[in-house]
Amino acid sequence: MDLHLTNKVFIVTGGAKGIGAAISKILAAEGAIVIVAGRGKEDNYKMVDAIVLAKGKASSHTAELSQPEACKSLVEFAIEKYGRIDGIINNAGVNDGIDLENGSPELFMQSIQKNLSHYYNIVHYALPHLKASKGTVINIGSKVSVTGQGHTSGYAAAKGGINALTREWAAELLPYSIRVNAVLPAEVWTPLYANWINSLPNPKEKLEQIVAKIPYEKRFTTSEEIANMVVFLASDVSSHTTGQIIFVDGGYTHLDRTLT
Ligand code: NAP
Repeated sequence: MDLHLTNKVFIVTGGAKGIGAAISKILAAEGAIVIVAGRGKEDNYKMVDAIVLAKGKASSHTAELSQPEACKSLVEFAIEKYGRIDGIINNAGVNDGIDLENGSPELFMQSIQKNLSHYYNIVHYALPHLKASKGTVINIGSKVSVTGQGHTSGYAAAKGGINALTREWAAELLPYSIRVNAVLPAEVWTPLYANWINSLPNPKEKLEQIVAKIPYEKRFTTSEEIANMVVFLASDVSSHTTGQIIFVDGGYTHLDRTLT
């Protein structure tokens, strides 16, 4: 299937690691130009090198995205370098465990800055360019937005906000033929996931418990399985799909609990 992505320009936030890395690689393999945007300069360079080695096209842009100015600079970088933006893949985030009891108003707001504000800020600054290209936005959310997790109020609020903004933007941007969708993972083995599980008292035991509860094949979703859905939504093969919140999770969030 030709996804018609050749030379289309996509910003992938957190595009050097985990789910974002898989999105960057698969978009580039489909012929898109990828701007790998994240705070790890070396990580970004490595990702761009890997894409270029595979004969793809990519650039890196180093930015701490919780800063609104960094989001503006990222959009300016894309326009100066390529003159257009065809899609934003909002993916960077961190499950930072800011909870109700031990957190604070300041830590809660910082979590929102890390997980939600940059999704808005980047699309805000990129909007004129998305209008020009009839581009698309794909927001990476989390099952936590609908299931809760416990002890992570900031992240849960941000992910709930991402679902709401997906619907809100899909509605607002109808007149411009800009499609907006969200992809929600549940359990994907990535550096973020490894850090989180290792922060728990009994990581090995917890991991076994979690895997046993994943209905489809009792295994983690791979980053590539998330990325394949994202790339489909980024392409005009999904040209009448907008405002959707799609769970790529092996049935983790919705299937009958008696199955596991
Ligand atoms: P990851 O392995 O930590 O990769 C995320 C990348 O984004 C890292 O390179 C990270 O940089 C970067 N990043 C994070 N916050 C940033 C910021 N404020 N500014 C610039 N760069 C930033 O994470 P992942 O597991 O692939 O997660 C990607 C997305 O999927 C997140 O939105 C997450 O909430 C969502 N998700 C993941 C899972 C899962 O099971 N893995 C489940 C549900 C939802 P550093 O390396 O410097 O931190």
